[in-house]
Amino acid sequence: MLPFDRSLVVAGGGPAGYMAAITAAEMGLKGVLLLEATLQPLGKVLISGGGRCNVTHGCWDPRALVGHYPRGSKALRGAFSRFAAGDTLAWFASRGLELVEEPDGRLFPRSNRSSSVVELLEATAAAAGVSVWRGTALRAAQPLEQGGFQLQLRLPANSQERGQQPQLRSRRLLLATGGHPSGRALATQLGHGVVAPVPSLFTLALDANPLAGLSGVVMDPVGLELLLPGQRFEQQGTALITHWGLSGPATLRLTAFAARALKEQNYRAQLQVDWSGGRPTAELEGAFSSARIEQAKRLLCNWRPWPELSRRLWIHLLEANGVSGQKRWADLGRSEQRRLITALGASCYQVSGRGPFGEEFVTAGGVNLGEVTMASMESRRQSGLFFAGELLDIDGVTGGFNFQHCWTSGWLAGQAIAAAAATETTAAAASPPI
Ligand SMILES: Cc1cc2nc3c(=O)[nH]c(=O)nc-3n(C[C@H](O)[C@H](O)[C@H](O)COP(=O)(O)OP(=O)(O)OC[C@H]3O[C@@H](n4cnc5c(N)ncnc54)[C@H](O)[C@@H]3O)c2cc1C
Repeated sequence: MLPFDRSLVVAGGGPAGYMAAITAAEMGLKGVLLLEATLQPLGKVLISGGGRCNVTHGCWDPRALVGHYPRGSKALRGAFSRFAAGDTLAWFASRGLELVEEPDGRLFPRSNRSSSVVELLEATAAAAGVSVWRGTALRAAQPLEQGGFQLQLRLPANSQERGQQPQLRSRRLLLATGGHPSGRALATQLGHGVVAPVPSLFTLALDANPLAGLSGVVMDPVGLELLLPGQRFEQQGTALITHWGLSGPATLRLTAFAARALKEQNYRAQLQVDWSGGRPTAELEGAFSSARIEQAKRLLCNWRPWPELSRRLWIHLLEANGVSGQKRWADLGRSEQRRLITALGASCYQVSGRGPFGEEFVTAGGVNLGEVTMASMESRRQSGLFFAGELLDIDGVTGGFNFQHCWTSGWLAGQAIAAAAATETTAAAASPPI
């Protein structure tokens, strides 16, 4: 009897699992089995990027790319030097899927449909000989004395008729279960430390939202500064005012970097917003002085200190600071001007919680990176065990960076697994696919 049913079992049919399985199989590894707990593999890819799938980001220098990862940036340095955004672009292009860069650097499939990415990954996996068992979850994994793993699966109802068995032995195991708790439990069973998961990339709810009337206003750029006991986080960029508070790329980046600190404070913090986008006070004073002279007869509500300032926001700031919009610019008092300049440069709000929606939802935390060899994604604790994707304590900001680390870690793991198997006689003896 051959010692293993499979040369590699990949648990998790997300982007990381597919990339690893395809890479290993394309390098010649036979007997690759991918398990997906749900009936729809690549479910998150399908809903990602508003149904368009923001596959990666046009940040071509690996040293710059790591700066977009609140957790994992140091560990990713070496990984990105081997497979980064340019490699993702080339990988998809060589398999027939063209990615197009938008002005803000995000890359989407030319079709603008995430289903193109799903179809390509499924077709490539099938062509490479990867077996995919849908509706099948990995429940437990036990290392075997002679190497490899005894796996326990939860199979769908009709599986036994198809010859699928709830127990199988695999020479190698790759966990790519994303943010799902089952993957973290499996990693713990196999001796790994897991950094407690916390949500990342969320919007901010403001106490009694003073900006509620401005819902839909987009400001670019704004400066955001989050003040927590002993810590402060800053971001500049586009912010969107919502019914409950603030959203938009700058807010999501801010919450990604502050994810753990915010969780520790139960999502209560002080938020200082620079609506002027970093204009120095002297510049703001200059704009006000010009308006007082050149627009002396205009009403405050009809003339903004600079044209890009949203009219709705300006009128809100006038009201919030007790300045009548019906006043002429010539009649604006000195103390009123000071209040407005302070409000434009540093308005303070109380954060009262996480907002209900985000563009992406990502889990920060996961398998401790110190216990994984990043060059191969292999466990330092358990030979033959590999990790890829969001299950690791790595997460990126919004813009395609989360998929990028999945493509990278999946590719590295697939390469390392195939290379190790090629040098090993037991892998050559692995059974053909069931
Ligand atoms: C709404 C939304 C939009 C997003 N948009 C983008 C975007 O445009 N660009 C971007 O870069 N990122 C985006 N993200 C983040 C991105 O989707 C994730 O970072 C990425 O999917 C993680 O990939 P993964 O392969 O590690 O895990 P997942 O995609 O979560 O896949 C893991 C898979 O494993 C399966 N699984 C779990 N446990 C088991 C088990 N025990 N056995 C078998 N299978 C199991 C799960 O069912 C799942 O299918 C978005 C996220 C969300 C929620």
